Amino acid sequence: AKPDPMLTVDNITRHFGGITAVDVTHLEVQRGIITALIGPNGAGKTTFFNLITGFDKPSPGASWTFDGQGISKTSASRVARAGMVRTFQLTKALNRMTVLDNMMLGAPGQRGERLLSSWLQPLWSRQEKDIEDKALSLLERFKLLEKKDDFAGSLSGGQRKLLEMARALMTDPKMIMLDEPMAGVNPALTQSLLGHVESLRDEGMTVLFVEHDMHVVRHISDWVVVMAEGKVVAEGTAKNVMAQQAVVDAYLGAH
Ligand code: ATP
Repeated sequence: AKPDPMLTVDNITRHFGGITAVDVTHLEVQRGIITALIGPNGAGKTTFFNLITGFDKPSPGASWTFDGQGISKTSASRVARAGMVRTFQLTKALNRMTVLDNMMLGAPGQRGERLLSSWLQPLWSRQEKDIEDKALSLLERFKLLEKKDDFAGSLSGGQRKLLEMARALMTDPKMIMLDEPMAGVNPALTQSLLGHVESLRDEGMTVLFVEHDMHVVRHISDWVVVMAEGKVVAEGTAKNVMAQQAVVDAYLGAH
């Protein structure tokens, strides 16, 4: 297919002391497909996510565009508003909030306390009610509706991953970035999570995810990008990439 990048990254570098965590010369993430970002521990995958979503700053000279818009100098909240969202592990504080409140916090430009203070509910505007309706319908889609009033901390590992994904969708993103979406998920929910990722793609969303489980990568990726020591060392279809010497070397640590 003709390249149609949703995200184009040029010359992005990040050092921590003497360590070069990320040093990517050029990378494109194509629109409407599932791209896996793989690589050994410490390859720079999470740092790369942090950089392109505005949660960390690269060395000078980097530039990247999202859906044709330059977003290199943009804050994390503006990146989210431009349509690129990522999942995080739920923090302890959010564990002590209900599933529904976690969803409400994912809403763009949310008026935090106002949305979360249920005693204000009778005073909610149409817009605030719409946000709740959207949260409820996403919870239904991800089979979490009956958990809406439970603390997020009471969910299983897999249900938390579903909640992270559902919450990210509160902003109606064009691209969703998932950091190890299958980690700590039991086999039954893995299938369901994979199905959700594929249906997002089938609805036209661009997906970029970091994953260590090669079965998962092979199963759902349309394209695979391999990082090692901060650099992109190979890319291609899962089958093609697995057959490349650079990839074998990256995983065996033989440079
Ligand atoms: P994993 O698969 O284990 O999550 P990763 O590919 O996501 O690894 P990063 O977490 O991005 O890799 O780390 C890349 C390198 O940068 C590592 O050497 C790591 O120790 C270093 N690093 C990352 N964040 C920091 C930080 N805040 N301070 C110092 N060094 C860091």
